[in-house]
Formats: sequence, structure tokens, C-alpha cells
Amino acid sequence: MSLLIKNIRLLLLIIQVCLLFIFSSCSSNTQQYNEFAFNGSTMGTTYHITIVADSINVEQRSRIATSVDSLLRVFNKRVSTYDDQSEISHFNQNLTIEPVGVSNELLHIVKMGQDFCNATSGAFDITVMPLVNFFGFGYEIGENRFPTVEEIDDWLQLTGCDKLLLGDSTITKTDPRISIDLSALAKGDASDHVAVFLKEMGFENLFVEIGGEIMTHGFNKYGRAWKIGIDRPNYGGAPGADLQHIIELSGLAVASSGDYRNYREIEGKRISHTIDPRSGSPIAHNLAAVTIVAESCMIADAIATSVMVLGPEDGLTWLKNYSGAEGLLIFREPDGTYREIMTDGFRGYLAD
Ligand code: ADP
Ligand code: MG
Repeated sequence: MSLLIKNIRLLLLIIQVCLLFIFSSCSSNTQQYNEFAFNGSTMGTTYHITIVADSINVEQRSRIATSVDSLLRVFNKRVSTYDDQSEISHFNQNLTIEPVGVSNELLHIVKMGQDFCNATSGAFDITVMPLVNFFGFGYEIGENRFPTVEEIDDWLQLTGCDKLLLGDSTITKTDPRISIDLSALAKGDASDHVAVFLKEMGFENLFVEIGGEIMTHGFNKYGRAWKIGIDRPNYGGAPGADLQHIIELSGLAVASSGDYRNYREIEGKRISHTIDPRSGSPIAHNLAAVTIVAESCMIADAIATSVMVLGPEDGLTWLKNYSGAEGLLIFREPDGTYREIMTDGFRGYLAD
């Protein structure tokens, strides 16, 4: 009998040792690969790039850093309204209704803007620049008062999808005072460009973030999809300080729009940098943040702003009808708490 007990004890011990071995071999699965970081600033914000690769030598690292930096400089020289010597600024300064010759790259991003303008019946509108400037979110300092009804009426003559005529290599204003703001597309487009550039260099595992707009490919240093935190939209909150969710992406982009980081106060009222071009006023609803996942970061960026302008109900309906994008909408409740709605597909990206 005691021999039997001894044997059972021995068997249990062997099972325990085997289980321990299985667990320890599981934990060694979290193998770390080498990651290489490239950080800098562009478009008045920062960028963070991570490449996971076997090795990148010092010389290659400096070549990547220089190339990315120059790619972003060239990109900025086309689309930045904050650089008065950029291609878009020259176009804005050109007070004529003659066709203006533009680069293919500028034409492409303006065409995307026009497509989103048409798709959202004018909620997304790159001709919103004069209003953005008035409210102090553009390259001008901005006023400390709300515009008069007459001023808004005047601007509404200068905004709209039909105010720009696109040719094969030209853009024509229908009124000389029209000007273009590409801020709602530019960071996403730049993230796409950097990711394509690095893929062409032969890197498969990438994370590219420019001012919060992110493109991912392959895996992170743990051999898993890239983990990305989505901020809770607390006014003035630091990025990453308080997360609403963590999502996991590979081969996809994510972009967000919100009312909580870029805002001003006019006459004691908090106003958002997102303008509803249909009313000529900053958005005023309880949708605090929109996060969009799509295959292209420029598209995710444009959709996030579109849903933000369309607002809680129309924005959600529009998003559900848009094929190829998933989203999370976070609402600010009167008691200071947050409520969220996400599309079914978005749920699949959650890591938490
Ligand atoms: P972020 O810059 O924080 O990513 P968005 O992508 O939503 O935010 O872009 C907001 C910017 O887009 C504003 O600062 C403004 O320059 C511009 N903008 C504001 N309203 C609109 C609009 N209705 N359509 C297109 N662009 C807009
Ligand atoms: Mg954006």
C-alpha cells in the first residue's frame, strides 16, 4: 500500500515537473527581436518610427534617419500651410481664378480631399481654411471673438466641394480668395509615405507614427501585432497618460480626431479646431473623440475628421456605410464620464 502511495507521489512529481517545463517553454516564447527607433519632429509635431529587424548597422541607421527626415521635409514643402514658401501656400497666395500648375503629389492629396468632401456632402472640406484661420487654428493668430452672421455668410461663399476645379495637372479656384487646408489629411498621408519608403528599403516590421496618426506592418519586438493605446479624451490630457483601450494592428493604420487636445477659449466658450463648414462654426456636440482603423492612414485620418464633423448620429451611420474602415466613437456625458460606441469590426482589434 505504502509503495502504491509512493508511486502515486512520484507520478504527481513527474507531472508537476512536466507542467513546469511546458510553462517555462511558453514564457520563452516571448522572444525579443531587435528594434530600432527613429524619432524627430515634423509638421509642428513629433514622429516616432520603430523598425524590428535582425540588425541595422550604424551606417544604415544614419542613412534611414537622414532619408526619412528629408522625405518629411519634401512632403512638408508641398502641403504645409504653416510654411509660407510651400507649394500649397503659393497656391493659397495666388489670388487668381486662372488654372495653377501643381505637382502630382499635391494634386493627389487635394483630390482625396475633394473625394471626402463629396462623400460627406461637404462635412469634410479642405476649403475650410479661412474659417480655421479666423478661429485661430491655422497659420494666422486668430480672433478672440465669434464671427458675425455676415462674416460667416461671406465665408460660406468661399467654402464647398465645388469651389475648386481639378485638372490633370492644375487646380483652379472659382474665387481668388479660396484657400486650402490639408491638415486633416497630411499627417496620415505622411505616415503612409514613410511606411512605403521603409518597405521599399526592405523592412517588413514597421511602426510609423506622425502626430498620433499611425501605420503598421508586420510585427513588434515580441513577434506580435503592434499594440497601440487609445487615449481617453480628457481635456489637455497627455498622450498615453489615461487609456480608453489598447488595440493590436498589423498591416493597418489608425488615426484619431478629437476636441480635447487642440482647442481654444473664445468669450469664455471652449471651441474645437474641427469646423463644420456647413454652418461655419466649430463643432458643438458631445462626440469627444473618433478613432478609425483602415488600410491607409490618410484615409483613416480623413474619416476620423469626417465623422467628427458629421457628429454622433450621422457620423456613426456614415461610418457604418463606409466599407473598409472601422471605428470607435467616445462621447462626453454631462456628468463628466465617457460613453463609447464601436463598430463590430473595431471590436476585433481590441487587445484589452
Ligand atoms: P488632428 O490634426 O488632431 O489629427 P484632424 O485630423 O481632425 O485633427 O484635423 C483637424 C484639422 O483639420 C484642423 O486643425 C483644421 O486645420 C482642419 N479642419 C477643420 N475642420 C475641417 C473640416 N471640416 N474638413 C477638413 N479639414 C478640417
Ligand atoms: Mg488627423
